[in-house]
Amino acid sequence: MLFRDRFTLHRAHQDGDRFEYSRLTHGCRVEESNTLIESRKVGACRDARANVRVMSHDLLVIGGGAAGVFSAITCAEHSNKSVVIVEKTSQLLQKVKISGGGRCNVTHACFEPRPLSGHYPRGEKSLIGPFNRFGAAETVEWFESRGVQLKTEADGRMFPNTDSSQTIVDALLDAARTAGVAIRTEQGVNKISSNGDAFEVDVNTGKSTSARNVLIATGGTRSAAGARLAASLGHHLLPATPSLFTFKIDDARIDGLAGLAVPDAEVRIHESKLASQGPVLVTHWGMSGPGILKISAWGARELAERNYTFDISVNWLPGIDAVALISDLRTSRAKQQLATRSPVDTLPKRLWLRMLAHAEVHESTTWSQLGKANARTLATELTNATFTVDGKSTNKAEFVTCGGVSRDEINFKTMESKLVEGLYFAGEVIDVDGITGGFNFQNAWTNGYHAGMAIAASTR
Ligand SMILES: Cc1cc2nc3c(=O)[nH]c(=O)nc-3n(C[C@H](O)[C@H](O)[C@H](O)COP(=O)(O)OP(=O)(O)OC[C@H]3O[C@@H](n4cnc5c(N)ncnc54)[C@H](O)[C@@H]3O)c2cc1C
Repeated sequence: MLFRDRFTLHRAHQDGDRFEYSRLTHGCRVEESNTLIESRKVGACRDARANVRVMSHDLLVIGGGAAGVFSAITCAEHSNKSVVIVEKTSQLLQKVKISGGGRCNVTHACFEPRPLSGHYPRGEKSLIGPFNRFGAAETVEWFESRGVQLKTEADGRMFPNTDSSQTIVDALLDAARTAGVAIRTEQGVNKISSNGDAFEVDVNTGKSTSARNVLIATGGTRSAAGARLAASLGHHLLPATPSLFTFKIDDARIDGLAGLAVPDAEVRIHESKLASQGPVLVTHWGMSGPGILKISAWGARELAERNYTFDISVNWLPGIDAVALISDLRTSRAKQQLATRSPVDTLPKRLWLRMLAHAEVHESTTWSQLGKANARTLATELTNATFTVDGKSTNKAEFVTCGGVSRDEINFKTMESKLVEGLYFAGEVIDVDGITGGFNFQNAWTNGYHAGMAIAASTR
């Protein structure tokens, strides 16, 4: 007799991925290795006496990051399907934990789909539809309905009120636990195959599991190891390239000023159309901050082709006519020495002193003594200072990778592969990435939601 039945798990019991039938007609026990959360649901089963293969799970999620966990929760909350997350490290959500300097920039207060999608150098058009159905407002609502209040900072970034990423990790793990998602850690998937009806997934412990649907959410790494699972099923991969990286600049004007921030600056890359505006931060090895990270994201591929060697112009006073400003100060501060104060409050005095040194203007010079040639040099330093970039930050400071599974091969309504039925994708494994500000997590929540809902509704 062949039967298909759903049943409640009474007791978790470990022995690989095999199901042990405690009652052959109505129930069974499932065995999960490294299970942190017991599954209360298991998939369609067949009679053990018939000695046929057992379908272990309706959905197997590869990767326990933001995208994988969100898809798993969504599917489990909206269906009776059995869901398991297989994660290669010892803990889920490790990037969520370290994100946003330990505060987790969950999303961005940008509630219209089109402007929101404009923050994705790769994926802009593909995300408009998905954001219509699950955008930043739905993210806020999702977390608030689970008791997590979010606050908005002046620049639009949204963080938990607690200023602790642990709040987000706890909310997601609680939701997974409540929805009955099974979790296996320290199991890296190294092979996947499909026979049309189901997938066979091999993990590095030597075991394999079958599942009707598989979601690949392995994130974006330079090695693209996770994305290669998709490639093994016929998908094309765009080369993995760093996005959101800082610029290495060796220049006396900023040397030793690490930590100094200019709240609003304009950055332009020479011999390119790339430009951005935002806060710029001086680091030990060059420049960072949203103004730099943004341009690194938009220029990820172009800058890689230029081997991260190029010149930039920095306007430290966007919107201000420096020539007019200096001419004004020559009258209004006539007797004051140039070194006494920076010309405008937003420009840190330490940076201004470096500009004076670079322009070879003595600090004791008063504004009325400033010659025309020096005035011109200072105006250039203030609004069009050239710096040579010679490299980018090391891997540790790279936040996001662009590249991954080609967007053309994914249906963005469901996140299902256009090539392999039952195969889904979410998060950074896809060739989608956003600029800094909460956009990368928003992409993970949005993809995760649509994939989870589609699998919940699927008849597979
Ligand atoms: C330091 C840092 C700070 C950041 N801060 C922010 C922020 O504040 N806001 C924001 O929006 N974005 C931020 N980001 C980017 C954001 O973290 C990522 O875009 C997001 O985590 C992507 O989610 P994901 O689930 O696709 O991938 P990941 O979070 O990378 O998760 C992928 C998971 O898959 C697992 N895995 C990989 N291969 C396998 C395999 N073969 N088998 C099993 N498991 C596997 C990995 O171990 C990992 O747990 C930050 C990134 C970094 C590095």
